[in-house]
Amino acid sequence: MMNGIIDSMQSSAWLLDDSSDIPIRAVIGAIGGIGIARMAVRHRALTKRGAIAAALMGLGYTAFGGLVWMGTLLAFFTTSSLLSRWKRKQHRKAAAESLYEKTGARDASQVWANGGIGLALCIGNALFPHEGWLYAFIGVMAAVNGDTWATELGSLSRKPPVSIRTGRRVPPGTSGGITAAGSFAAAAGSLAIGVAAAGLLIVGTAWQEGHAWSNIPIGSMIAAAFIGGVAGTFFDSLLGAYVQVMFRCSVCGTETERSSHCGAPVQPLRGWNRMNNDAVNIASSFVGGAIAWGISQLIG
Ligand SMILES: [Zn+2]
Repeated sequence: MMNGIIDSMQSSAWLLDDSSDIPIRAVIGAIGGIGIARMAVRHRALTKRGAIAAALMGLGYTAFGGLVWMGTLLAFFTTSSLLSRWKRKQHRKAAAESLYEKTGARDASQVWANGGIGLALCIGNALFPHEGWLYAFIGVMAAVNGDTWATELGSLSRKPPVSIRTGRRVPPGTSGGITAAGSFAAAAGSLAIGVAAAGLLIVGTAWQEGHAWSNIPIGSMIAAAFIGGVAGTFFDSLLGAYVQVMFRCSVCGTETERSSHCGAPVQPLRGWNRMNNDAVNIASSFVGGAIAWGISQLIG
């Protein structure tokens, strides 16, 4: 019994952030979260309600998780905000713009869709510490990041995307449409989360006594992020193609994810009524997390 406990402690000796300093980290998280949220509103990366959600999330991630959790979330948030900003400056966006359900600043439901599962995993890990939570989190964030990078960079593809449902070319921005550029971006975005998480773990262990960074399973963590992220992003495209709700504009006839177009209400075209873009994101990031967790179980 005792040996088992010691073994499990040693096997997770690279896990940082014990729960004894939650109150201090909550204060740091509140200050940091509010600061980042204010900056994001100023740069139009978040709506006001989105910023409140993000500040709460930053508080939770920092208090219950710490460096790796908060840092990985920030790696996603900063890179995808910068990509959106950069893409906004590209002219070609105009056509894809009107097709997306949401554009520009991220709102509260997008913030919860992107970071909600991660927060739950983070709290789970604070209550019952185990490396499996972190793997699942890395898979979730890799899927979210992969999908965001794919969406932002894929829409700049010279060739229009091909629908994985029909095999035909579809307008840029169509859910379930894939491009080579988008697929490459999904792989890079997934990999980036694995590298960021591993890097943060190494940095964190450097100043924690009794933790050796050589124990950190860097390779399997990056592999879990890559496989989980790519699979999650692909699943996102599948859901986008087959079950995500799509409408047709009653004025101009364009297919759209939005609930209004040309200032008029839209008509349902296909998909499940409740399966909007946020629901698709939640489902596919869950798949990414489950796969990354599965990989940690196979390795461990
Ligand atoms: Zn229209």
